[in-house]
Amino acid sequence: MPTPLLTHPDYPYAFDPSACNSCQGRCCTGESGYIFASIGEFEAIAHHLGIDMTSFIADYLVKVKNRFSIRQCKVGESHDCLFFDRNRNGCSIYEVRPTQCRTFPFWEYFRTHLDELLQECPGIKKLSDAGL
Ligand code: SF4
Ligand code: SF4
Repeated sequence: MPTPLLTHPDYPYAFDPSACNSCQGRCCTGESGYIFASIGEFEAIAHHLGIDMTSFIADYLVKVKNRFSIRQCKVGESHDCLFFDRNRNGCSIYEVRPTQCRTFPFWEYFRTHLDELLQECPGIKKLSDAGL
């Protein structure tokens, strides 16, 4: 049975989660970007990893002005999120991933930049193309 498309009333596209199976994490790799989260979310990740916040900040975060972002590592030409597991083709902290990751691809920015989103995520379908 096909996976149902996800929609949001304020967004001009639908998302097919089954596309993630063969996508190889394009939203977690590729061009450099920021992966922001709240302090509470970072604490949950540190707890999940079984390490204290001091070690977590030192090993996994980078300061960006007055915020912290999850570090990335260079794999070939790609900037991979440190928590992207290429062997498993997925997020290694999936259960505690930040809100920024949970809400992709329904980000405010993409409401008016659908062409960019279509290039990044193979799971995106214009509502007209999806018959919705
Ligand atoms: S880019 Fe889209 S299809 Fe690929 S892993 Fe991310 S959400 Fe899934
Ligand atoms: S935390 Fe997980 S879902 Fe978020 S960018 Fe990193 S690998 Fe992807």
